[in-house]
Amino acid sequence: MTGDGTRAVRAGLPEAARNEPTMPGPVFAAHFHLPGEVAGPYTYGRDGNPTWSGLESALSELEAPGEEAGTLLFASGMAAISAVLFSQSRSGDTVVLPSDGYQVLPLVREQLTAYGVTVRTAPTGEDAQLDALDGARLLWIESPSNPGLDVCDIRRLVAAAHERGALVGVDNTLSTPLGQRPLDLGADFSVASDTKALTGHGDVLLGHVTTRDPALLEGVRRWRKIIGAIPGPMETWLAHRSLATLPLRLDRQNANALALAEALRARPEVSGLRYPGLPEDPAHKLATAQMLRYGTVLGFTLPSREHAERFLARARLVEDATSFGGVRSTAERRRRWGGDAVAEGFVRFSAGAEDTEDLVADVLRALDESEG
Ligand SMILES: *Cc1c(COP(=O)(O)O)cnc(C)c1O
Repeated sequence: MTGDGTRAVRAGLPEAARNEPTMPGPVFAAHFHLPGEVAGPYTYGRDGNPTWSGLESALSELEAPGEEAGTLLFASGMAAISAVLFSQSRSGDTVVLPSDGYQVLPLVREQLTAYGVTVRTAPTGEDAQLDALDGARLLWIESPSNPGLDVCDIRRLVAAAHERGALVGVDNTLSTPLGQRPLDLGADFSVASDTKALTGHGDVLLGHVTTRDPALLEGVRRWRKIIGAIPGPMETWLAHRSLATLPLRLDRQNANALALAEALRARPEVSGLRYPGLPEDPAHKLATAQMLRYGTVLGFTLPSREHAERFLARARLVEDATSFGGVRSTAERRRRWGGDAVAEGFVRFSAGAEDTEDLVADVLRALDESEG
């Protein structure tokens, strides 16, 4: 079997055919010729599209190398997450969510509760979700968590959930399948916002769900048909095109994240530094055991809101913007959104693909210039 880099440049492309493009362009079609009986893969554009098929099979190859798996694309990460949670739970079921996960999860919780689903939450760290599993139908994991960067033992949580008959979905947004493979760790669903590192250029919203279980895949497909949260062919094609450089981008961005973390740990004004790749990070051991790469995101706290705002204003190579995983470094004072339980001076930093020396120098200069 080939390595991830080799797989990424070819995944989902058609067999070579004389005079055909190596990568077919996007197919824009609301409907397809369909004489007589309803048959074949492409009938109506909400149900299937050849451009989706290419990226879906590419993502299946990356999520489950050498094995059978199915992937469904969605218009966004939230559409993909909602597709699993809402297609797999019924009134009367219990769902376990992380209490420190993506900031839209509290809204999801409200909606699930309104539909008669009991929702329990527990933190990602120390595998605290274990204690909430009795009687659950579905366990939702986010590891590393966003924005706290805590890590849980996915194999251990999956084993405990499966023992109780519960399904497990993992939000793998921070890692991408080249940084962590939830299906290899036993999860039933690997789900991600591909808006972030997977597409990596900050110009596309997209999400996907991958599973090895054909029946679960059909449940999610049915939900996509009902809710209609489908991606456009152009977004899908851009994402597929970006996949070829994913290993290169991750290598550089991971190295930059580590270099920044190493530079920041010497700074007296920085506290609460988190990056799973740092040997002294509380998540390092677990991350090393279950991840393939430590990721592009780090977190740290500056002494005050004003200090963090000054830092973000002074950094020249770092855009003050939300989201993460892109080729241009971004950072934000996460507390400005209100939702997450983080300090006023907490900065979530996404390392881009700039030259390492330039990026580290820019960040250190901005810190020097933002001292109160
Ligand atoms: C961004 C993000 C989402 C939501 O993805 P969208 O593509 O913005 O809908 C979900 N989970 C995590 C961990 C995220 O970072």
